Amino acid sequence: MAYQLNQKIRNLEPYEPIAGSYDVRLDANESFLTLPASLQEKAVRAALEVKPNRYPDPCAAGLCRNFGYLYGVPSSCVTAGNGSDELISLLVGAFFEPGDELLTLQHDFSMYRFYGGVFGIKTSVYPKREDLTIDTDGLIAYIQKNKVRGLIFSNPCNPTSLCLSRKKVLELIRSVPDCLVVVDEAYMDFANDSVLDYVEKFENLIVLKTCSKALGLASIRLGFAVANERLTRALRAVKSPYNVNSLTQAVGEAILEEGEYLLACMKKVIHSRDSLYRGLLAFHARHGLFETIYPTATNFVFIKTDHAQAIHEKLLESSIAIRRMGGYLRITAGSEEENKYLFRVLEEIAAELS
Ligand SMILES: *Cc1c(COP(=O)(O)O)cnc(C)c1O
Repeated sequence: MAYQLNQKIRNLEPYEPIAGSYDVRLDANESFLTLPASLQEKAVRAALEVKPNRYPDPCAAGLCRNFGYLYGVPSSCVTAGNGSDELISLLVGAFFEPGDELLTLQHDFSMYRFYGGVFGIKTSVYPKREDLTIDTDGLIAYIQKNKVRGLIFSNPCNPTSLCLSRKKVLELIRSVPDCLVVVDEAYMDFANDSVLDYVEKFENLIVLKTCSKALGLASIRLGFAVANERLTRALRAVKSPYNVNSLTQAVGEAILEEGEYLLACMKKVIHSRDSLYRGLLAFHARHGLFETIYPTATNFVFIKTDHAQAIHEKLLESSIAIRRMGGYLRITAGSEEENKYLFRVLEEIAAELS
């Protein structure tokens, strides 16, 4: 008998965001901004200080300090991860046992349910309303009734781009004290409803942050979990000791120090996002190809349209990659030139489709 893979992993495929190479990448919600030369040099100088024969600092102390300073949270509440993706997998794998129910929302970031499956955790899905907003009263009632052990959701949401108000999120956390609530604030730099300043007030709250979106550092794989000291101790205890490599720690520490620069980046991305959103509204007013353009609290715009497949394919033919999910499109805000090119090609597509 040959070795057999177990049932839960037998049919999994390696993650492949997009095959092929495209000139304009508006599919992964990355920042379109690259580091200016002065900061690139600073990052390289920091990397040169790294001793390649030595293990990294397991606590990533300097990194957590600079993150804490940037976001106004004590570094004793911060755990660094190899992308927030690692922290999601760690949370799902270590904070839940077989038999526990982990609740996710539909639609939301797909990795939550993916890791639930990999770790054999019962992962249920609570549906959003028809308009993709969250019925928090219904959600609270479901969690209480079913003794749900954990809830994880993104806010603002990827992919819907909608944001649940801070007031509602706090009410939710307060109403389910036995349930661990993980709020993935990967896009909160583009909105204004963070609950980061509440981590010490709750026993059951973990906030996830990433450097991959607003901070423009997707390449170095760096994310953070922020929670009270008891939860933070547990997270640090279960993570692999050297989860964030020394190069990432050095570069991350150097860039996170640059608060003013990072704030300016966020403003530029928000400006691009707003112009993309307004452009799509105007495009829709002219051609009527969309059903709904959702208001956006992120760095992308989410659209419902019967023409999703055709638009997606035709954009790819012009070397523009966006993300399609069934009858929805998700378009990341790009540089001014990229947005301009996108609209030029969209006009061509509209002419073809009508
Ligand atoms: C992009 C994204 C992440 C992943 O962040 P990494 O730090 O790059 O792993 C996490 N959550 C959401 C909702 C995202 O969109």
